[in-house]
Amino acid sequence: MNRPTPRFRTVLYRGLRCRCPQCGVGHVFQGWVKLHDHCSECNLQYLQDQGDLWAYLVAIDRALFILPLIILIYFRLYIPSSAWLYLLAAGLLTGFIYTLPHRNGIALGLDYLVRRKWGDLSAASVPPPPADSK
Ligand SMILES: [Zn+2]
Repeated sequence: MNRPTPRFRTVLYRGLRCRCPQCGVGHVFQGWVKLHDHCSECNLQYLQDQGDLWAYLVAIDRALFILPLIILIYFRLYIPSSAWLYLLAAGLLTGFIYTLPHRNGIALGLDYLVRRKWGDLSAASVPPPPADSK
């Protein structure tokens, strides 16, 4: 692992663009949201285990969609006209579906940063080079 760890903001931007969190070049998905196993450019294995992204996705989804929906439902009790509520709920639902690959990419980037810091990509987990190599 000779690459420097990219900055947090860089990894989020790469995830938003559905690009590899390490190099920013390789495409993360094949099709809509089916994840490639490895990056085509830097050969990074995207996920150590299947299902590693669910905690990040739950946190992102709650922040972006569930909390606004709760606020919408709460304020509906005090506003007699509900046309705006249905309009905003439809907008949120459309955004929820449309941004699925982007949210997955951001979650993959966050997982990558955690793996770089404490997981299988950290400096402590990389074995030292053999003594006879020069
Ligand atoms: Zn890559």
